[in-house]
Amino acid sequence: MTNYPYLIIGGGMTAAAAVDGIREVDSTGGIGLISAELDAPYDRPPLSKALWKGKPMDVIWRKTENKGVKIHLGRVAKEIFPQQKRVVDDKGDVFTYQKLLLATGGKPRRLPFGDDHIIYFRTLPDYRRLRALTETGRRFAVIGGGFIGSEIAAALAMNGKEVVMIFPGKAIGDRVFPSPLAQFVSSFYRQKGVEILAGEEIVGLETRGNQHVLKTRTNREIVVDGVVAGVGITPNVELAQTIGLEVENGIVVDELLHSSLPDIYAAGDVAAFYNPALGKRIRVEHEDNANCMGRLAGRNMAGKSEPYHHLPFFYSDMFDLGYEAVGELDSRLETFADWKRPNEEGVIYYLQNDRVRGVLLWNVWEQVEAARQLIAEPGPFTAQDLKGRLPAKTPIPKP
Ligand code: NDP
Repeated sequence: MTNYPYLIIGGGMTAAAAVDGIREVDSTGGIGLISAELDAPYDRPPLSKALWKGKPMDVIWRKTENKGVKIHLGRVAKEIFPQQKRVVDDKGDVFTYQKLLLATGGKPRRLPFGDDHIIYFRTLPDYRRLRALTETGRRFAVIGGGFIGSEIAAALAMNGKEVVMIFPGKAIGDRVFPSPLAQFVSSFYRQKGVEILAGEEIVGLETRGNQHVLKTRTNREIVVDGVVAGVGITPNVELAQTIGLEVENGIVVDELLHSSLPDIYAAGDVAAFYNPALGKRIRVEHEDNANCMGRLAGRNMAGKSEPYHHLPFFYSDMFDLGYEAVGELDSRLETFADWKRPNEEGVIYYLQNDRVRGVLLWNVWEQVEAARQLIAEPGPFTAQDLKGRLPAKTPIPKP
């Protein structure tokens, strides 16, 4: 039996940030971390971005050494006994804690065919597997037009691969971008040589030698050397449910990131928290939330009582297109586009009941904080009020 004042279940970015948060408050208390992964904590964004642009592997590692944290890799926490403050893993080892953090993240949704022939891109082993395939493979299919699909398709194309993207929506990122911008992104990808099969669905996969044959709903066959999918994730809430924690599209936490049981906290992709600026409970699957929420959970586990009111931002790289965004980016909301140069530089505001709910900063930088303030303001806002409100702070590059 191992005793830890602080025990963290999960080994991702949230967990690494929680270690830092704990150490900001308590420099000595022992920290244990149980991770199903075989790799020590690493940053996930480079797996679909920087590592495909020639950045060295060492950019990804989170610094956990010299922080008094014992990392137990390749283990799955199987049972929690909240009364005894005890966790049992899949090897039968027992850990006790004073404060427990659930940073269990999410797992990729899987398609009902293809088994292990499809790379559901999320972890470092997934990156390694795809990298190895690109050594010999020439043509790749990317299923899904969301974050993973758009970033991996761009990464593969930038590495000289033929890429075909398949997704049921009308255009890349159409759940996030207003329709004209999503259409622009799709045509931008086409110009970069990516074949786009929008409004199409894969219904089966067959393997022939080293190749895969995907069958579409419209009876098309796509022959490729590798298949990657990003069709969303589901939060890993099962362990929380076994002990009766309140779960509602994620583990419900209060503003101090406590779950519904004493001394058990949750943070990151798996946690549903109330955001005062948006006036509702949200669950966020992006880096900034993992880092900020993980850190704050750590601080509160170590004795602070600081509320989590942060409205996380996110960003993406799609070839040379880039953006930052904050708040609720749902293309079903009313939108107002304030372009300086259409589709190249500008701000899109997402509105509901005359309030700004989300801001997309398209090739506009250093405005995330100002965007957050706008979202917190009660309004009402008209398009006229918003025009020119968040100008780019970087100089416009000369043509
Ligand atoms: P997303 O939710 O971003 O995208 C899911 C995509 O899958 C959508 O395009 C959806 O299409 C499509 N889809 C759903 N069902 C099918 C199907 N049967 N066949 C084909 N396509 C389908 O999830 P991802 O998997 O891309 O990303 C996983 C998580 O990782 C996300 O939570 C994301 O936030 C996070 N992430 C964040 C990044 C960032 O912040 N830059 C980068 C990478 C990942 P439709 O909309 O048409 O239903």
